[in-house]
Amino acid sequence: MAGLEDLYREIILDHYRTPRNRGELDPPALSADGHNPLCGDEIRISVAVQDGVVTDVRFSGSGCSISQSSASMMTSAIKGKPVEQVKSIVRRFKQMMTIDEEDTEIDESINLGDLEALQGVVKFPVRIKCATLGWNTLLDALATEQK
Ligand code: ZN
Repeated sequence: MAGLEDLYREIILDHYRTPRNRGELDPPALSADGHNPLCGDEIRISVAVQDGVVTDVRFSGSGCSISQSSASMMTSAIKGKPVEQVKSIVRRFKQMMTIDEEDTEIDESINLGDLEALQGVVKFPVRIKCATLGWNTLLDALATEQK
């Protein structure tokens, strides 16, 4: 059974043990807190946006390996990207994490890279909230932006 699943497990463990972009940013960076009561996961996302581009992003909090590694992977995936593209990546990721087969509008042009490692989580519905916590919190943070 060696192969893709082992690779995926390695990627998730790597991000859990060595989280990327851990910490917080001071205002005017946008921030939001997320909580997954089912598992006890807590995440704070800070995101700095300048001229429509995510110039920096950090996460802090505690929780299970899925919630923390997913947030770490997310920060790596979105840093330096335009907000609109970031929102597309979030949408794509959340599509991957749903089992809704009727949702056919998957944008295959967005390469999720290492994030694909999390798709195995779909098999464990109780963990999906762990994997998407950081992503929903990111959207909350971006939504606090003053227009
Ligand atoms: Zn969890």
